[in-house]
Amino acid sequence: WEKSTFSWSKKLENGLADIFKIKKFREHQLSAMNAVLSGEDTILVMPTGGGKSLCYQLPAVISKGVTVVISPLIALMEDQLYGLKKIGVKSGMMNAKTDKDITKSMMDALEGKNHDIKLIYITPEYMKKSKRFMAKVQKAFNLKLLTMFAIDEVHCCSQWGHDFRPDYQFLSCLKSMFPGVPILGLTATAPAKIISDVQKMLDIQGCLVLRAPFNRPNLFYEVRRKPADKDVCLSMIQNLLKSRFADKSGIIYTTTIKEAEQLTSDLRDKGLKVGCYHAILEPEVRSKIYSRWITGEYQAVVATIAFGLGIDKSDCRFIIHHCISKSMENFYQESGRSGRDGKKAVCIVLYRLADVFRLSPMVIGDKVGLQNLYKTLEYCLDPQTCRRSLIANHFEEKWNKNDCAEMCDHCRCPKKIKETDIGNYCRQIYQIIDKALKTDTNLTLIKLIDAWFSKGTASHRVAAVPVPKFSREAGENIVGFLLINGYLKEDFVFNAYSNLTYLIKGPKAGRAMDKSHKIMFVHDEGLGI
Ligand code: ADP
Ligand code: ZN
Repeated sequence: WEKSTFSWSKKLENGLADIFKIKKFREHQLSAMNAVLSGEDTILVMPTGGGKSLCYQLPAVISKGVTVVISPLIALMEDQLYGLKKIGVKSGMMNAKTDKDITKSMMDALEGKNHDIKLIYITPEYMKKSKRFMAKVQKAFNLKLLTMFAIDEVHCCSQWGHDFRPDYQFLSCLKSMFPGVPILGLTATAPAKIISDVQKMLDIQGCLVLRAPFNRPNLFYEVRRKPADKDVCLSMIQNLLKSRFADKSGIIYTTTIKEAEQLTSDLRDKGLKVGCYHAILEPEVRSKIYSRWITGEYQAVVATIAFGLGIDKSDCRFIIHHCISKSMENFYQESGRSGRDGKKAVCIVLYRLADVFRLSPMVIGDKVGLQNLYKTLEYCLDPQTCRRSLIANHFEEKWNKNDCAEMCDHCRCPKKIKETDIGNYCRQIYQIIDKALKTDTNLTLIKLIDAWFSKGTASHRVAAVPVPKFSREAGENIVGFLLINGYLKEDFVFNAYSNLTYLIKGPKAGRAMDKSHKIMFVHDEGLGI
């Protein structure tokens, strides 16, 4: 598909340079365009920021008809429309709020009454709802004016995806309703299971799948224990910003708006120049903060994950995750916003088990939410494996032993590793759980650790369970390990006031109760277990 001898090749080349002002295609971009322009259904897997949009925007511009772009988020579409407007490409977005004139010009374009509008953006929800729009698309089809359907974030079709959206189900009718109109699915989520699920749903089984490499050789990955003490944690971030990342620009991600605000004000108190960014700020405020970051007035933005869509700063040198991400996909995307210029950037996760339990009630509504969250926990807990190889494995990318080139903490400074049978500790934790059950107490992580280490009120303490000789930190690591391996499980209690999670015995408890059952825990010798 990489050829440049198609009838449209010259047009692509000229459009790339003249309209998009881009010098050359990145890997797979040309193939994707050639494929769809030949009428082939295609799925393009490319990391965020890789340049997926160009793969439908450029073909749309050089074709006579209209390209319908289906995208899940209005904010994403607005970014794109803004970008297209800047380069003089006419496009529009269909939704309930679109003003009448723009709607009319889009409808006209679909009926061949004008050929100005090249791209029409719409959410799957609205497409499903608007019979009128679908009727016009039908008309465009009859007039052979449909260039293609570009489906952004196409993994949302799959139930296995990290953000399955039921409204995408509607798109399953496209292939039969508009035979011959190519579908281009775009995503940054690669697992084969998801891709084949998406193909089945869209009825494009066996279509061309193009995968761009995920590895980002210039990003250094690192995980640190997040100190339980807030002030200690704050000093740690302060030190990073003042020494290691002095004069460098970056992003600090937090989970909630409240945290983002608090951390911003704490860092400001320490004399650091940081801005705060989240979804409920007014658009003007957001863009002001963004531009202060772009110009370097702010060294860093403390942000919720709302900060990301459409970020275009090539010299972002560090990403600090103040809390782990909800999934490896999120982590990859968020950390991937650094080092776009190809120079070295650092991605640090500050990890604490307690944060997992803060996130789990937020992700439990999603069928695979917990599974995805535990993957990030695994990434943090692993004491020795190359971080980059963990990421590569997650995205089903080939990995060779020395590919990292010491660009992760584990490869740069390998820890002394030890293996310990923690079967007994597991059974002791079960005794604590059993006692809590008897007294009808919901055992949160803190309560469990307190009981185990005989701290606090420790009313759940079990006399027969000895206080461990190792640190609470080590104890938390054991609990984390037991959780991701099915020896412990989270139990959720949702009520009007809060969504809380408690620890109970996991599916492997039956086996683990047997005193001869070994649970081998590979860990950093420094934990002192
Ligand atoms: P994605 O949708 O994959 O996250 P985008 O389509 O938003 O990525 O592209 C990210 C950035 O890369 C945009 O600023 C875009 O203009 C730029 N870009 C795309 N293709 C190329 C290319 N071939 N060369 C240089 N920059 C490119
Ligand atoms: Zn490594």
